Amino acid sequence: MAPRRKRVLAANWKMNHGPTAALAFLESFLDRYAPHDDRTVILFPSALAFSAARTAAAARPDVRFGVQNIHSAEKGAFTGETSASIARDAGAQYVLVGHSERRHVFGETDAQTAEKVIRAASEGLVPVLCVGEKIEEREAGQTDAVVVRQLRAALQALPPATTAGVLIAYEPVWAIGTGRTATPGDASSAHSAIRAELQAIAGAESDAIPILYGGSVTAANAAALLAAPGVDGLLVGGASLEAESWASICNS
Ligand code: PEP
Repeated sequence: MAPRRKRVLAANWKMNHGPTAALAFLESFLDRYAPHDDRTVILFPSALAFSAARTAAAARPDVRFGVQNIHSAEKGAFTGETSASIARDAGAQYVLVGHSERRHVFGETDAQTAEKVIRAASEGLVPVLCVGEKIEEREAGQTDAVVVRQLRAALQALPPATTAGVLIAYEPVWAIGTGRTATPGDASSAHSAIRAELQAIAGAESDAIPILYGGSVTAANAAALLAAPGVDGLLVGGASLEAESWASICNS
């Protein structure tokens, strides 16, 4: 029987919401979303809004927090960067790694993504590893090959028990911030390729890994995507910026 994985709903605020807006968001969101035992909600605020957001949710430990990026080094002369241990100290439990904007806007390679996964895991942060194909790769029938390559590159150096602690987000690049959502069938098909590769990398322990879908999720399409076989949760950008639509997605 397929394992019952807890649903995960993650909000990537990207470069939006400073401390003031984060506080207002949390006040409104927490009024609209009561704790649910069957799901985990994670917010990824910008670095400077992180502490304000976390403090605003102090009475709600069911709402968890992560950072949008870390440097792969333990510490040192890297002006402007955030280390995994600083993120942990600030209260982060998760970190986004390999997001398409890091890969395709900032030029992060598979190798750098792997280094960040290792650093996150070694400092006690859960990496949320994002994988996904570009439109030309999809059109060339390379979707599965791309996500498999990205998974292998990022996870190959981890022991299976550590791999079992990561989260994966399938985020087709062509669907992120474009208003063009993968169909539930597209998502299921890629998730099934990802699940098979996780099994090959980490064996039975990989059954625990949730695979989220991300890419132009809205309050209107969230329920259909969550109902798709193999979709364990959602990673949401634009529609997570408004408390009302984010609460509606979390309550789906
Ligand atoms: C994202 O940034 O991870 C994302 C999925 O964005 P959007 O929901 O806006 O497409």
